[in-house]
Amino acid sequence: MAEPLLLVEGLCKRYGGVVATDDFSLRVADGELCAIIGPNGAGKTTLITQLSGELAPDSGRIVFAGRDVTRLPAHARALGGFARSFQITSIFGEFTAWQNVALAVQAQAGHSFRLWRNASRDPALARPALGFLEQVGLAGRAGVVATELSHGEKRALEIAMALATRPRLLLLDEPMAGMGPEESARMVALLASLKGRLAIVLVEHDMDAVFALADRVVVLVSGRVIAAGSSDEVRADAGVRKAYLGEG
Ligand code: ATP
Repeated sequence: MAEPLLLVEGLCKRYGGVVATDDFSLRVADGELCAIIGPNGAGKTTLITQLSGELAPDSGRIVFAGRDVTRLPAHARALGGFARSFQITSIFGEFTAWQNVALAVQAQAGHSFRLWRNASRDPALARPALGFLEQVGLAGRAGVVATELSHGEKRALEIAMALATRPRLLLLDEPMAGMGPEESARMVALLASLKGRLAIVLVEHDMDAVFALADRVVVLVSGRVIAAGSSDEVRADAGVRKAYLGEG
């Protein structure tokens, strides 16, 4: 089998007596969208924070593009091609949508935050920043101050900021949380447009979105993988229906 972009082997994380991640393994190919689902408390957020490097696993390893990154901190993983879409708190509310993305472009280019005021007038930042806003459907909102954006627009802006760091792997923790049907549909369309261009690990409770988008679905219960496969395989899995969807 070809070497995957992301290879996770035997990851374990305990909180006292709680086993939050129990011998978790995963392979994600370049361009693949892998969804991780599971009931509340299954360990999805704990897992994604270990993948991003914000939380160190007790044991196991994470290999990215052939390099062992298990002990690399989050900022080093970000430079190496990981991007995580954080909660909306990562957006600078008083800046416009465009300025937020320009800041991410600038960070990727290695400029310090101190240079921001000059750099924000730099056309070398302006064009790519607009390009990323276009990719997430926010070009028409470029000049709007971030606090004025709707919830769905803020989530799209976060993704534009993540894209500005030119990642090979995007980690998304519940991007549809708190969205109505229209906003969710827009987010599904956005993620569908990104699929294939970069690898995505998506943690999401919205099952319709997951089954519509995922190349591969991994089901976690109590930190353990109880099933993995295509959307159709997982949807039809009797164990999943019983343990997770509450059927049978
Ligand atoms: P949800 O869908 O509700 O967000 P989740 O699948 O993301 O849940 P986690 O938040 O990763 O699950 O939690 C997994 C388990 O680890 C839970 O039993 C939780 O109570 C426990 N846990 C998570 N973080 C901590 C912590 N910092 N200290 C102690 N226990 C924790």
